[in-house]
Order: sequence, then structure tokens, then C-alpha cells
Amino acid sequence: MTSERPVVLVIEDEPQIRKFLHASLEAQGFSVEEAESGEQGLTMAANRRPEAIVLDLGLPDIDGVDLIRRLREWSGLPIIVLSARTQEGDKIRALDAGADDYVVKPFGVGELLARLRVAMRHAATVAGTDAATSFVSGDLKIDLVARRVTVSGKEVHLTPTEYRLLAELAKHAGKVLTQRHLLKEVWGPGYADRPHYLRIYMANLRAKLEADPAQPRRLLTETGVGYRFIFYSN
Ligand code: CA
Repeated sequence: MTSERPVVLVIEDEPQIRKFLHASLEAQGFSVEEAESGEQGLTMAANRRPEAIVLDLGLPDIDGVDLIRRLREWSGLPIIVLSARTQEGDKIRALDAGADDYVVKPFGVGELLARLRVAMRHAATVAGTDAATSFVSGDLKIDLVARRVTVSGKEVHLTPTEYRLLAELAKHAGKVLTQRHLLKEVWGPGYADRPHYLRIYMANLRAKLEADPAQPRRLLTETGVGYRFIFYSN
């Protein structure tokens, strides 16, 4: 009989970190598979069909970002990236390549587990609600058909661009979206290098949707990377 525990594949070349992750994840009810190189990781991801992947960006054989692209050719499973402080640029490239989230080394295992749970929950939601016509997070409701937004039942008027930005963030609730991703999705491919657009529209959205726009609880800034919509279950 196979285990009912969700399987997490850890792709990491440093034995110490693999060992630490193995113990920590198992203690939290996951079953852990380990790969110590990118090639081994790709093979194991295909053969063992894990529920999620924790991937170190600094691998000896394959560039971590290339590995994400190769995984994304056939798999939508959650990928959490481990990046070193010296890999700030790679972190953003990893998200653009399709990673769900990241933690920076040295990381706390609590933070990694929280990221992992959000990504796995999101993957399950996406798989189960293709035909969702509305999105609800706390007292925020988005009617995806009518393109109508309410907070505590009161309608909030958004411009078409504000709406597209909010809808894109909500669609990926819990996940950090890079500035480049948002600019491309909301404004179009020619706008990837205009982060000031984002800053202005995020300020507008916060003014309309946050109780205290200076202390946002829904629309968070990930400094130097992008933005994240925080999901609140009711
Ligand atoms: Ca490494």
C-alpha cells in the first residue's frame, strides 16, 4: 500500500540542507523524496509524481531556472524555490519561469512550510474550480462574470485596468507575482519595463480596497520582486 502522505520532492545538492528538509517535512506529515542534482530531480519528478517540489536554484549540473522551465513544459505542480542572497536576480527569473514562491537562505522551516501549504492549496483550488464565477477572500468579493467588486457588500468602482490588475493578483492568490509578469499580463508585452505604472495602480487599488492603505493586508509588496495577494478564507 502506498503512503497517503503528500510527497514532496527536494532537489538540493547540499546534503546538510537535504537532511534538514527531510526531517522537517516528514515531521509535518509529508513524505520526502530527495534528488541531489537537476537531472536526478527531473527524472524523479516524472517517475514519482510528487505533489510539490522544493528546488535549490544553485545546482551543480542544471541552472535552476532552466530546470523550472523544463518542469513547466509538462507539469503544473507547485514549485518552491530556495535561493541564496546572492541570487536575487535568479529569484525573479525563477518566478517568471513558473515557480510559485521562494524562500531565501537561510530560511526558517516555518516559513517554507507556510509557502508550501499555500502553493499546494492554490494548486488544488485551480484544479477543482475551473468554472468559478466569483472569487471571495474575507469581505472582498469579485464577480468574475459581471466584473463587479464589493467590499463588505458595498460596490467598489474600479477602472478597467485596476480591475484587470486585481483579477490577475486574485487569480494567483497567495503567490508572489513579479512586476514583469503583472505588467505583461495587465498592460501588454511592451510594458514590462514600466514598473511605475504598477506602483501607481497598486496605490489606487489599495486606496479603494484596504481599510488602511498604508498598512495593506490584502495587497502586499514583495520588495524588489513584485506583489502578492493575501487570501483570507471566510
Ligand atoms: Ca546549492
